[in-house]
Amino acid sequence: MATAVKPDFDAVVVGAGFGGLVMLHRLRQHGFRARVLEAGSGIGGTWFWNRYPGARCDIESMEYSYQFSEELQQDWEWSERYATQPEILRYIEHVADRFDLRRDIQLDTRVNAAHWSHAESCWTIATDRQTVTARFLVMATGCLSSANIPDFPGRDSFAGKTYHTGRWPHGGVDFTGQRVAVIGTGSSAIQSIPLIAEQAAHLTVFQRTASFSIPAHNAPLDPEAVRKVKDDYAGFRAYNAAQAFGAHFSLPPVLAYGVDASERERVFEEHWQEGGLGFLSAFGDLLFDHKSNETAAEFVRAKIRGIVRDPTVAAKLSPKQVIGCKRLCVDTNYYATFNRPNVSLVDVSETPIEAITPRGVRVAGQEYAVDAIVFATGFDAMTGAVLAVDIRGTGGRSLREKWAAGPRTYLGVGTAGFPNLFLVTGPGSPSVLSNMVPAVEQHAAWIADCIGHLREHGFARIEADPAAEDAWVGHVNDVASLTVYPSCNSWYLGANVPGKPRVFMPYIGFPTYVAKCNEVAAKGYEGFALS
Ligand code: NAP
Repeated sequence: MATAVKPDFDAVVVGAGFGGLVMLHRLRQHGFRARVLEAGSGIGGTWFWNRYPGARCDIESMEYSYQFSEELQQDWEWSERYATQPEILRYIEHVADRFDLRRDIQLDTRVNAAHWSHAESCWTIATDRQTVTARFLVMATGCLSSANIPDFPGRDSFAGKTYHTGRWPHGGVDFTGQRVAVIGTGSSAIQSIPLIAEQAAHLTVFQRTASFSIPAHNAPLDPEAVRKVKDDYAGFRAYNAAQAFGAHFSLPPVLAYGVDASERERVFEEHWQEGGLGFLSAFGDLLFDHKSNETAAEFVRAKIRGIVRDPTVAAKLSPKQVIGCKRLCVDTNYYATFNRPNVSLVDVSETPIEAITPRGVRVAGQEYAVDAIVFATGFDAMTGAVLAVDIRGTGGRSLREKWAAGPRTYLGVGTAGFPNLFLVTGPGSPSVLSNMVPAVEQHAAWIADCIGHLREHGFARIEADPAAEDAWVGHVNDVASLTVYPSCNSWYLGANVPGKPRVFMPYIGFPTYVAKCNEVAAKGYEGFALS
């Protein structure tokens, strides 16, 4: 490397979740000295923090795992179609031990700031424990890790216990005999509500936007189906990587209005019975054409009316927006839970939550007295955890300032003005609109190869070119505008956090994206300046 100063590490990786761990492994394979800094007291990222009742992944287990080691994917046995949080955390712990990752991971260390020195071509990284230097900084901080608790008036005045689904107590929570409020009805709420309802004396759910949810039909994995995947795991992974969302469902050529109403109904029913996120692949145009989308939305609304006995409650639970433009949910007994006598639904779409009071939650002048409040209110997605660190690039310019009007990246992996900074599944990459584990693996491999290329060619720095970045940001938006995604208030757009700029953040199309990354690398990191 063309610089005299030797930093403490070749690379510092922030975050020890799925992304940070594989990043460390890849860097080590290239012989780099790397250190992972993790705020939590354990590894696992999302799966360390999200321990709420019912937490499990809604990507199927056989897909939601690493593929960098054939032995690992052959050896590990998942027990269910959708793995629970404890099982996924056990898997992550196993990977860390198996590949001897822990010796380079420092827990209980929060990174507060990272400042770039151009003269020394290195980052100075300040944590709550020490300061370290590194040639490269890799933010593997997760897309959904910065908890969002709305600033309700009186939020801190509540006399009972409060919880956020993404910061759940490790010892669990026993709601037996309690009156519980759940605020929010996204994926985390939809998984936890049925289980909290079974325990609590009474559960009141505060819903601002009704969610579409598809049954999980979770079950123990069939050994024969597992064997089939394992017989050709590489082929299974390659098939998934070739699909638009990088997961095991393909968008068929048949369009919703390409068949008559009864055939449409049959296909939707088949996908409903199959369960899971693949519901949106019933027809090839559900995410592109509003009229087609409405047929799927209406199918699910009819299901809700069939499941929920009280028509008023069923109507409140029926989403009005297009299906899929907010993240689709996958559930076990969600809608049916509202048939229980101890569960009530408060619609706060027209009359927002006025205040949290010492006794509970107040809406339209009425106080709902509870013993505990669960904030299932989501995350400052995609940018929150990155911007929580005071990152300063060339000339001391802060990333917060650069991204004030929304995140700008080249390939979601680099950002102009911030040399040697890499983002794992940053905004502008498929990330949350793909299966996250293959997505982080693809980034980790690409980033490690890139750093290897720099070393091989004697470069000390790499930085996204502003023109390439502008073109990429434009492309991400152009692709999104071909779909239904930008048409509703979702966290993909930053719409869930008051004041956050409204920019569609993920890139849609995993295979196109991977091809682009490979092409950029093959052309000597086209669109980046190497020096
Ligand atoms: P979320 O989808 O953002 O849901 C947050 C909920 O809180 C929404 O219903 C939202 O309403 C509500 N809310 C926010 N602010 C509010 C306010 N001021 N007043 C009333 N309600 C408010 O968060 P999440 O459920 O934690 O899920 C986030 C993402 O994590 C998911 O989309 C998914 O990608 C991932 N996740 C995955 C799984 C899984 O694999 N099974 C499980 C959990 C989470 P609005 O919709 O009106 O904003």
